[in-house]
Amino acid sequence: MSITGFEDMLERHDLKKTRPRLSVLNILSKRQAATSQPDLEEVLGNEVDRVTLYRVLKTFEEKGIIHKILDVNGTANYAMCGPACSEHSHYDEHVHFNCTVCFRVYCLDHLAIPKLSMPHGFEAGTVNLIVYGICGDCSKKAAAYKAAEDKVSS
Ligand SMILES: [Zn+2]
Ligand SMILES: [Zn+2]
Repeated sequence: MSITGFEDMLERHDLKKTRPRLSVLNILSKRQAATSQPDLEEVLGNEVDRVTLYRVLKTFEEKGIIHKILDVNGTANYAMCGPACSEHSHYDEHVHFNCTVCFRVYCLDHLAIPKLSMPHGFEAGTVNLIVYGICGDCSKKAAAYKAAEDKVSS
């Protein structure tokens, strides 16, 4: 998406077009995997201070622009929401995948969370489903490593 696209997006959500907001959108929309707050801090450098970044992320989350996924270490990771999401209603609940080798968090957009029937008197709000395992990149690397090892030993 272009900068104009991001500006439109902020406008749609009644948000002022500030530099930190545009920078965060730009980074998150380019990533294939979700991005953690420390990662964002590193990419943004001195451009955006911690408190501002925290506020930007919180606002985006409330507006349904991004969603938060806690990884295996309890670190918050952020990813862009689907176009159907809006304030306080996320329509893109999907399965997340946390790789235990590279620790990246992926949105598996095409995998919907199965409907869960709650016990009597319980009302489900947000449902999180995280699959822990080895991602495509890491399993490819492991296979290549194994192939190289087999060559040496044969
Ligand atoms: Zn991985
Ligand atoms: Zn996601």
